[in-house]
Amino acid sequence: MTFDGGNGLISSARAHFVLVPMMAQGHTIPMTDMARLLAEHGAQVSFITTPGNASRLAGFATDVETAGLAVRLVELRFPSAEFGLPDGCENIDMIQSMGLFVNFMEACAALREPLMAHLREQQPSPPSCIISDMMHWWTGDIARELHIPRLTFTGFCGFSSLVRHILSQNNLLENITHENELITIPGFPTQLELPKAKLPGSLTIPGMDKIGKKMIEEELKCDGEILNSFQELETLYIESFEQVRRKKVWTIGPMCLCHRDSNTMALRGNNSSMDEAQCLRWLDSMKTGSVIFVSFGSLAATTPQQLVELGLGLEASKKPFIWVIKAGAKFPEVEEWLADGFQERVKNRCMIIRGWAPQVMILWHQAIGGFVTHCGWNSTIEGICAGMPMITWPHFAEQFLNEKLVVDVLKTGLEVGVKGVTQWGNEQQEVMVTRNAVETAVCTLMGEGEAAEELRMRAKDYAIKARRAFGEEGSSYNNVRLLIQEMGKKTNACG
Ligand code: UDP
Repeated sequence: MTFDGGNGLISSARAHFVLVPMMAQGHTIPMTDMARLLAEHGAQVSFITTPGNASRLAGFATDVETAGLAVRLVELRFPSAEFGLPDGCENIDMIQSMGLFVNFMEACAALREPLMAHLREQQPSPPSCIISDMMHWWTGDIARELHIPRLTFTGFCGFSSLVRHILSQNNLLENITHENELITIPGFPTQLELPKAKLPGSLTIPGMDKIGKKMIEEELKCDGEILNSFQELETLYIESFEQVRRKKVWTIGPMCLCHRDSNTMALRGNNSSMDEAQCLRWLDSMKTGSVIFVSFGSLAATTPQQLVELGLGLEASKKPFIWVIKAGAKFPEVEEWLADGFQERVKNRCMIIRGWAPQVMILWHQAIGGFVTHCGWNSTIEGICAGMPMITWPHFAEQFLNEKLVVDVLKTGLEVGVKGVTQWGNEQQEVMVTRNAVETAVCTLMGEGEAAEELRMRAKDYAIKARRAFGEEGSSYNNVRLLIQEMGKKTNACG
């Protein structure tokens, strides 16, 4: 018999979840939160990774160990060389050209045998359930062989998940040749229309067709879906998604709320590229709600021209800001431009972070009053939890849908007005947002006008709702418990 972390008796065998995240920051990070969350609620977790990714997860590993949580990191050797990838290329953010994406996906699929072998050894505590990133379609075979349920995690919110489902079920993108052709999403509960290029799935990666089909097939076969969202945020879309999927959709988010202190927040995803204490000191010295935080996630590669335009817009706004820049070695001209007067001109009100920022730690600091985001779902939900009004600046994938949710449904953000898509791996030289647009958006959001006040009020309200959903007896809290109970029962029935 085991107890669920002191909260009561759950079952005679502890539910054992196997988490298989895609190796990309935006996919792995929420799954580290998921691992922590499941373990805090009394489950046992095996977290599948590779040696190269495990080094980024060192902070997470220490953190769960210190907290005494039943989370085990399982390292499987990643067959980079066998699939024509450079040695050590074990994460999507390390892929140097789009031509290697399929190689990467095939190398992932080759983890099937070693993972199967590992899971077969897990006696007498066999896994109860696999929670797999949708991109790891091959985990479907493992779940069937072991006779255990497989739940899918896409990392999307309910709104975007529903659009993605409708698009794929109706093959809506297939016969449309023009990138700018408007597509109305049929059967969506509210009116929604976007050009093809701004919809997920519009990016054509050589050789990905077959793999994409397998991903969708396996998703349709899976036993349920996990969403990093909460019922009260997007009820209509979550319910519609559950109806069309005809399977249980478990909303257990916002999972980032499992972090309660700045130490664990700072360890999220990777080692920060700056001293966190110094960052906190700087933030402590700023007025409440005065600083705007600008960050475009882990993959979006903003071009040098666009970065300069953004920097000049921030300068012209005269507001304090933290700007995360990932151009690094890829665009040395950005560094030259920063050093050539820009940094000097803004030095009293700006902090530039080159590389990895402790994003949640920053967002949740009282000095931050607004967030310029690329609308990756993790960043968006982290912003929602922080009660942040946002300036939306989507680049690619489902980010344009998340923008619609934030701006049109939640009404907690305003669009900066990007002209087009900055496709991952195929960045154009074109400037999508002018310095004037940046200045106007920042001044509006951080200003005292009525519209900004309303955005701030609504944003605060959603942050409260998020905490209620995640907190004891909230909708997400109850869902985590039910999920563990349900999977625990299956373990007992099998055992
Ligand atoms: N992130 C971070 N520091 C950075 C960049 C990103 O902590 O410098 C985290 C961010 O908090 C979020 C994740 O990385 O949890 C990025 O996921 P998201 O879905 O927002 O965007 P993606 O990187 O997948 O485009």
